[in-house]
Amino acid sequence: MALTVDHFREAAHELLPMARSAAVPLTPDQAELLADRQVQVTCRLAPLANLLHLASIVMTGLFFIPSSTGWFRPAWTGAMVLLGLNSVRWWLPRSQATYDRGRRDLWGLRAEAATWSVLNGILAWKALPVADPRQQLLLVATIAGVIGAGAMALSTERTVGFTWLWGHVLTIGTAFVATGQPTLRLLTVQLVVYGAALSLAILYLSVTFELRCRAEMAADAEREVVTLLLDDVEGGARDWLWEAQPDGALVGVSNRFAARTGRPVHRVEGRSLPDLLAELGAADHRDGRAPFDALVAALAADRAFRDLVVPVLVEGVRSWWSISGHPTPVGAGPSGWRGVCSDVTEGHRHQREVLRLATIDTLTGLPNRHRFHEALAARAATASADRRLVLAIVDLDNFKIVNDTLGHPVGDGLLRAVAQRLRHDLTADEECFRLGGDEFAILLDETGGASALARLGSFLDVLHDPFSVEGNRLEVTGCLGHAALPGDAAEPDELVRLADLALYAAKGAGPGVVRRFDRGLGERMAARALALHDLGRAIDQEQFALWYQPQIDLATGRVLGFEALLRWHHPARGLVAPGAFIDVAEETGLIVPIGAWAARRALADARSWPEPLRVAINLSPTQLVSAGFVDGFTRVLAASGVDPGRVELEVTESGVVDRHAQAALEAVRATGVALAIDDFGTGYSSFATLRALPVDTVKIDRAFVAQLDPTPGHASQVVVRAIIEVARALALGCVAEGVETVEQAALLRALGCPTAQGYLYARPMPAAQVAAYVAEATGSTQPPTSAARRSASTGPMVPPS
Ligand code: C2E
Ligand code: CA
Ligand code: CA
Repeated sequence: MALTVDHFREAAHELLPMARSAAVPLTPDQAELLADRQVQVTCRLAPLANLLHLASIVMTGLFFIPSSTGWFRPAWTGAMVLLGLNSVRWWLPRSQATYDRGRRDLWGLRAEAATWSVLNGILAWKALPVADPRQQLLLVATIAGVIGAGAMALSTERTVGFTWLWGHVLTIGTAFVATGQPTLRLLTVQLVVYGAALSLAILYLSVTFELRCRAEMAADAEREVVTLLLDDVEGGARDWLWEAQPDGALVGVSNRFAARTGRPVHRVEGRSLPDLLAELGAADHRDGRAPFDALVAALAADRAFRDLVVPVLVEGVRSWWSISGHPTPVGAGPSGWRGVCSDVTEGHRHQREVLRLATIDTLTGLPNRHRFHEALAARAATASADRRLVLAIVDLDNFKIVNDTLGHPVGDGLLRAVAQRLRHDLTADEECFRLGGDEFAILLDETGGASALARLGSFLDVLHDPFSVEGNRLEVTGCLGHAALPGDAAEPDELVRLADLALYAAKGAGPGVVRRFDRGLGERMAARALALHDLGRAIDQEQFALWYQPQIDLATGRVLGFEALLRWHHPARGLVAPGAFIDVAEETGLIVPIGAWAARRALADARSWPEPLRVAINLSPTQLVSAGFVDGFTRVLAASGVDPGRVELEVTESGVVDRHAQAALEAVRATGVALAIDDFGTGYSSFATLRALPVDTVKIDRAFVAQLDPTPGHASQVVVRAIIEVARALALGCVAEGVETVEQAALLRALGCPTAQGYLYARPMPAAQVAAYVAEATGSTQPPTSAARRSASTGPMVPPS
């Protein structure tokens, strides 16, 4: 096998690219790092290498140095041993993990290598000339071995390796030459060749080592670049990784993580994640408790968790972190943890804003009904007998009229203005909400027995000054109903219901009224609810009856006819007056079948009466405008066989303002029946509208009659006199209701009222008593007063509400 040029070419091919890449300049930091590694690796080998070296020194000193050198033998051996020990002392600390003065210490290594070679050179120079050939052989072999072994041990850094190698070649070669012996001089050439061969090895090994270090550094740099890129792209700056050991201690805490906590790395490292979060206030925040607990529970149970959003307070700034993590098994033992944190403050804020918008009434800016229920539940939970929660509901009077007549923009503007005044009036622990429409709720506390009543009135007072909306001056009043918890209500829902009832009662009592819920109100409402429940069955079970009250001709005292008045024989409550159920019947529409029954019954009863006696039947507005009313009534009227001229229908004023109602009245009046306006003077109609309506009779409300003062020219007579006169001028009949005394009857007669009705003549009586009453009345020239009253008294009756 011949050595050819190709061999050299191949060797060069191998070495040159290596040398070239090793020649690429490093940054000062990288150069420093490389030097650190080189010194470190060299020092790691040091203990073993030194041990072997010391053994060889002692062997040489004992056996290979001729005794004829005298003092030189112990001196050299001692110097070498000291140098070896010093070297160990110097190298050991440098083999440690965090070593960072490589470049400076390289000079120390070089100096040491040079010193060894000088001492070995002296050995050769002093010992070889006096040694016998056998000793020379041993010395040369030992020196060659030491040179080779040292060169290999120091090959990670070539300058140190070369210093060692060529220092030895130089000093020992010189010593060889100095002996003057031809064999040793010849050996000098051999030494140089040996040096050249070792140089190649040193070069190869050092470059290999350097390339490996460079590769490691490049990988590190690459990781940094990736991290940097992550920081920039995809909001990576808002994410950071966390890692914990099985015992929960955080490890590998990055600078970014530490920076987020506002603490240096070493103060984060080693703590547990819950510990750290607790210190950042996560568990103290209202919205932090639940996710914090969930995190602690997941960690305890070795369960992965995702996107737990916790609030943290770092250097006074609130931010929100979303934390995910999963257990990472470590061998067979308990698992460690790894996960990601993200700063989601912005998204969280956005979410809260959306939430806020969902709980705000956009028109007025007040919290809405949804928020009201939340606040109500929260405040009810902490209410006590000493600190009761009061719910006040404010409702504007006639808001619908503003809306209908001035348009919705004005209505909206008014609501905004009212909301603003209410809000302005609130104290720190009062809250105002818009429940919808023109209804506002206020939550406030009633402390230490001090009544909230005075305070509540002021919520209506804010409406006192007129509002100016889009150039309209609006005078607004409102009603307020309120209830307290505990006391009136035991639960939030009940509180709302009771305050609503109080408001309902306040509205019924007139504009600007404040009403507190009371038990009586509750009972009346309960009665209503009961009525509602039982009313449906009442018709089928024939629980209704009609009672009759006579109408008297004031001039002659003759009975002209009877008004039919509805009674309900309730199986449990006894006889119930219409005031207790007519409203409910109207609301539910049950008044339609009930009214139809009443009309049929009244006509049937009237049929049996002596011919000219008339019957008056009450009609509710709802009934009047219900589908098929006119046809139905016409049929019933015809079927009854009663002369329409004997029939009168009574309708309240509120029942005739509606256009449909007027049309129905016209139609029904065409059948020949008469129409009476009931309770005249209490509603909306005026004298002027009387003329326009298809009316035959006016009934003066009993409230006017009740307040009549017989003193001549007394003011109480003005309205009554006016009604009587207008009726006469328009050729209408006129009935005074609720006549209870002889004086009232006399006065009415004097004022020219033709007809009267009231307890003075008779209370309403069951149909069966009508015949007897009529018989008695026609047999007498005076109206049957007290006697009739006695006969008509039929026991207790549930009063109207
Ligand atoms: P209304 O039509 O004004 O009936 C007169 C009411 O005054 C009756 O009460 C009657 O008992 C009472 N009254 C009569 N004389 C006197 C008196 O001297 N003093 C006093 N303080 N009161 C007197 P009632 O029967 O309780 O009826 C109440 C209301 O119920 C009626 O008022 C009427 O609006 C309504 N109503 C009665 N029956 C019917 C009906 O069949 N259909 C409809 N839709 N409503 C009815
Ligand atoms: Ca009536
Ligand atoms: Ca009436």
